[in-house]
Amino acid sequence: MIGVSHLARRAGWSVWAVLALVGVFVLGLTSVHFALPGSTVALWWPAAGLAVSFLLATDPGPRRSAVFVLGVLVSSGAANYVGGRPVLVSVLYGFANAAEVAVVHGLLTARGRRPGLASMDDLWRLIAATVTGAAVIGLLAGLTAHVVLGGDFFDSASAAAASHGAAVLVMAPLGIAAGLRRVRRPELEDVAQWVVVVGVTSWVFHQNQSLPLAFLPIPGLVWGALRLGLRTVAMQLLVVGVVAVTLTSARGGPFAAAGQLGGIRPETVGALTQAFLATAAVTTLSLAVATTQRRAALADLRSEVELSGVVLDTAASAIIVVDTAGRIARLNATAARLLGDAEEALVGRPAAEVLPVDDREGLAARMDAIADGAAPLHEEQDWRVEGLGVRHLIWTNAYLTDDDGLRTHLVKTGVDVTDERAARTFVEAVLEAATATAIVGTDLDGVITLFNRGAETVLGWRASEVVGARDWSLLHDPAEVERRATELGIEPGFGVLVHRLRGGAATETRDWTYVRKGGARRTVSLTMSGIRDESGRLTGYLGVAEDVTRRRQAEVALQVALDRERQAVEELTALDRTKSDFVSAVSHELRTPLASVLGYTEMLEDGAAGPLTDRQLELLSRVDRNARRLLSLIEDLLLNSRIEAGRLELQPRRCDLSDVVASAWTSVATVTSQRDLVRDIDVSPRPLWVEGDPGALERMVTNLLSNAVKFTPDGGRVSLAAHPDDRDPGTVCLTVSDSGMGIPPADHERVFARFFRSSAANEQAIQGPGLGLSIVRAIAEGHGGSVSLESAPDAGSTFTVTLPVTGSARRVS
Ligand code: ADP
Repeated sequence: MIGVSHLARRAGWSVWAVLALVGVFVLGLTSVHFALPGSTVALWWPAAGLAVSFLLATDPGPRRSAVFVLGVLVSSGAANYVGGRPVLVSVLYGFANAAEVAVVHGLLTARGRRPGLASMDDLWRLIAATVTGAAVIGLLAGLTAHVVLGGDFFDSASAAAASHGAAVLVMAPLGIAAGLRRVRRPELEDVAQWVVVVGVTSWVFHQNQSLPLAFLPIPGLVWGALRLGLRTVAMQLLVVGVVAVTLTSARGGPFAAAGQLGGIRPETVGALTQAFLATAAVTTLSLAVATTQRRAALADLRSEVELSGVVLDTAASAIIVVDTAGRIARLNATAARLLGDAEEALVGRPAAEVLPVDDREGLAARMDAIADGAAPLHEEQDWRVEGLGVRHLIWTNAYLTDDDGLRTHLVKTGVDVTDERAARTFVEAVLEAATATAIVGTDLDGVITLFNRGAETVLGWRASEVVGARDWSLLHDPAEVERRATELGIEPGFGVLVHRLRGGAATETRDWTYVRKGGARRTVSLTMSGIRDESGRLTGYLGVAEDVTRRRQAEVALQVALDRERQAVEELTALDRTKSDFVSAVSHELRTPLASVLGYTEMLEDGAAGPLTDRQLELLSRVDRNARRLLSLIEDLLLNSRIEAGRLELQPRRCDLSDVVASAWTSVATVTSQRDLVRDIDVSPRPLWVEGDPGALERMVTNLLSNAVKFTPDGGRVSLAAHPDDRDPGTVCLTVSDSGMGIPPADHERVFARFFRSSAANEQAIQGPGLGLSIVRAIAEGHGGSVSLESAPDAGSTFTVTLPVTGSARRVS
């Protein structure tokens, strides 16, 4: 497609080029034909104008331009030849024409420039190129006329130069303007102007018109130049040229009349006509160019004004322009908003009256002195703005001056910094309030940028001594920094403090030692974090350090105390173990002789050593009772030692709990018989089989019974019951209750602890080592059961032991 359209375009240009060359031929022929009688050269040579105009309009590039120039040579030569000129002359004239076209086009498009008429420079360039082209054709045509035809060189040269120059000057603009946009749509004015130009020109150059009115078409052309744009002007120049030349060659108009009347030579008539055309072209073109320029400048200015208006109104800053009389000349939307009124209502009013500052007189004085340039370049003002309270504005002032350098306006640009100030004050207040916490900011290299009051307190340096001057790591204990650097495998310095942050961590907290100004050392817990700007780029670091010297000292002291305590506990435990071992050994040693004491006592009571008196029997029974108590105590001690050592070795077998209970009841009978107590025993008539160690179970029941007896005063009641549990057929219940002193609820759990004795027991001197109940619990739990207590002071106590019925026991029962 591209190829096809390219070809079409190429073909299109070639067709147009051929048509243009035909035009050159026809125009050339016509010009030769219209040459004034007696003249060796034509009056006008529009063929040159057409050729140049075509090249400028199509801008076909150097190769095609060269081909076209050759075409000009051929067609111009042909026109001359067909017009009746000799072959040699025709060839030379053809060559001269081609040379002219090449020179003009070459100069206008030199260095890749696109020919234009946008500025006066362009116009000068066109005139210069035309004049040069005219000189070339003048020289070549003059030489040809002189050498070959024997004519006067100067006459021929000047006539050719003038006829060609005027043609190019009049027609080239059309080629240039072909590519221009039309300024506006054609209107009635355009038609009127065309009529005037064509009408006046035709009339001035009319055959019967001999008055010297050649200047008359000029105003019409000027009208077009001022109002209608370059294209129209270019076209009208061509039309005027054609009309003027055609009619003049037909002996019409002022120049032809002068020729006839004043005996002026035909070449001069031609030169006058060309001069007229050149003058018209230069005048009209320069006016048209200037008008176009002015129009473009005005459009630029308008868009610039619009742009600056938009910029002003969308600016976040308040902008107020004040004239030398102190009145507001202009202001933007932001300023109007702050002033609480419409822009139109504010313009023209005195600034000192409108701006809501406290010191109106001072402001008025400054506004009056605008012409003197007395306003400061920067100022800060507090404005009382309705609905917004007091706003703090920072102003930048600048003067506008006129061409003479006199000040005409003051431009005030203000930024509302109230919120930023408030935020900054708040942050500063927070930083200052933190008197016990050191807050230190640094740049990326660790140079201190912020050092709050807390930092001064903790680190002992003043902010003025360290901000901007010191690497923060220099306030650290150098040995510690070096140690940490070795640990991390990096160089000692600030990098040690932020190593983790540089590795991507959000914060890093650790203890550091600081060396205060006086040399004292403080331990701080330092948390470092990165400071980032709005785009997330790291710009520095912030460290928050707390003096933890005391806390760390206390922690160390606490650790030492704990260690000591642990050591003491270990020592005590070892001692306790020794003591237990000792008690256990002693108990063992005591049991054997005691057993023999009891044995001999029994023998004596049985009369093995002969009959005993009642008194002797009574004494022996005391020996027996105390020996049994002693034995019981020794048993308890031994049992306790075994429990403590985790060696309560039970030897369970199937046994009837009723038997165990009865046996225990009998063993305490010796004690209870001497007391005034009501004794109840209620044991299930059926056997209560359990899998248990009868000795241990009897010891358990004995301990409970002897406590009941011990803690119940005379007149009271002691009961023992053993039954299958009503609620749980898998268990049997054993209950020992009394109506004695009872146990306060607070002691219910503690009574099962080893060596616990209630204060009441101590006060009433009720003996006992405090081991009984702990042994009861150990034995109950050793059988997979438990013991519970219900009691209240002076309301008696009930101990209930629950024991599981063994599988075999259950089967038997
Ligand atoms: P001991 O009887 O040798 O003092 P125990 O371990 O048998 O030691 O009992 C611990 C404590 O529990 C007793 O000192 C006593 O204060 C309390 N106690 C035990 N049984 C009873 C009870 N039946 N009535 C009132 N208090 C009791």
